[in-house]
Amino acid sequence: MSETTSLVDQLRWKKFSVLNDGFVCLVDVMGDDAAVVQAARVSYGVGTKRVSDDRTLIRYLLRHRHTTPFEMAEIKFLVRVPMDCWRQWIRHRTASVNEYSTRYSEAIDSTQSTPPTAWRSQATQNRQGSDQPLSAEEGSRLTVEEQQLQEQSRRVYEARLEAGVAREQARKDLPLSTYTEAYWKIDLHNLLHFLALRMDSHAQEEIRLYATAIGHEIVRPLFPVVWEAFEDYRMGGSTMSRLETDVIKRLTAHGAATKTAPPYSEADFLTAQDSTWKDLNRCRERDECRDKLIGLGLLTPLK
Ligand SMILES: Cc1cc2nc3c(=O)[nH]c(=O)nc-3n(C[C@H](O)[C@H](O)[C@H](O)COP(=O)(O)OP(=O)(O)OC[C@H]3O[C@@H](n4cnc5c(N)ncnc54)[C@H](O)[C@@H]3O)c2cc1C
Repeated sequence: MSETTSLVDQLRWKKFSVLNDGFVCLVDVMGDDAAVVQAARVSYGVGTKRVSDDRTLIRYLLRHRHTTPFEMAEIKFLVRVPMDCWRQWIRHRTASVNEYSTRYSEAIDSTQSTPPTAWRSQATQNRQGSDQPLSAEEGSRLTVEEQQLQEQSRRVYEARLEAGVAREQARKDLPLSTYTEAYWKIDLHNLLHFLALRMDSHAQEEIRLYATAIGHEIVRPLFPVVWEAFEDYRMGGSTMSRLETDVIKRLTAHGAATKTAPPYSEADFLTAQDSTWKDLNRCRERDECRDKLIGLGLLTPLK
């Protein structure tokens, strides 16, 4: 038995828990790191083996977005996800999906519940995001209220079924926290795209937990070399626009002229910023540039 086969056997049907009652698990996989290499070598010819080993080749492909070799591997999952999270998940159109039918069967009797310490406040900087946890007292009240609402909607749903209402109609008032299950099959290229978007700090925490479980528990062991390259070039990498590169050039030129070493000051940054940002009070692109330069140690963080 090959190493990959035994690893697949160990992982298959193993449920990795997410949230209070969700999970992800591997159903099947076609291919491994070697499948990516095998496909790439067809396009590069037999000579490639001599100039690049498998790891170097995979890293080159990922770095240069030569994507089709990654489409040669496919993974099938079974997932159990609350509907609101699933609504974000299903936007990824490049997967094949077969979902539990609440027309055909009774809705799964399970809802995503939020522990008292897990309620998050609305972010002020990012309209789509959340911020600090709410107080434990407020959280406890919200959790009790959540439980009452979920129990009430389930009672109404079951009473409708009892009264003979069709399942397809009875379900309409079930909350978005109700769990659904689906088979989800996707090739490795599109899976990495999903993971890059949904493991990112800008993604909602709930879907981030699912993406992280898929990435760390399933994809990393099955595709160790691809995963390493993905972390180095996609998750851990950062892109610089032409505008941002020009800001760095102006900043370092100013530093050289004035014999100032980085990190540079906010005033220096504002002088070096792109001319199209200058008249704007709020400018997201400038904020993003500032964050990148702070991360690189080129700029002093704002107080
Ligand atoms: C942080 C975050 C916030 C978001 N906020 C919102 C929001 O407020 N509102 C909202 O509606 N959505 C939102 N989305 C969803 C987002 O716009 C995408 O629909 C989702 O991330 C799927 O990405 P995708 O289309 O690249 O992936 P996939 O559907 O898997 O497609 C992969 C790639 O295939 C190609 N492709 C697939 N289908 C087509 C097509 N029909 N035509 C051309 N090319 C195609 C594209 O290159 C695409 O990038 C958000 C996503 C994230 C990560």
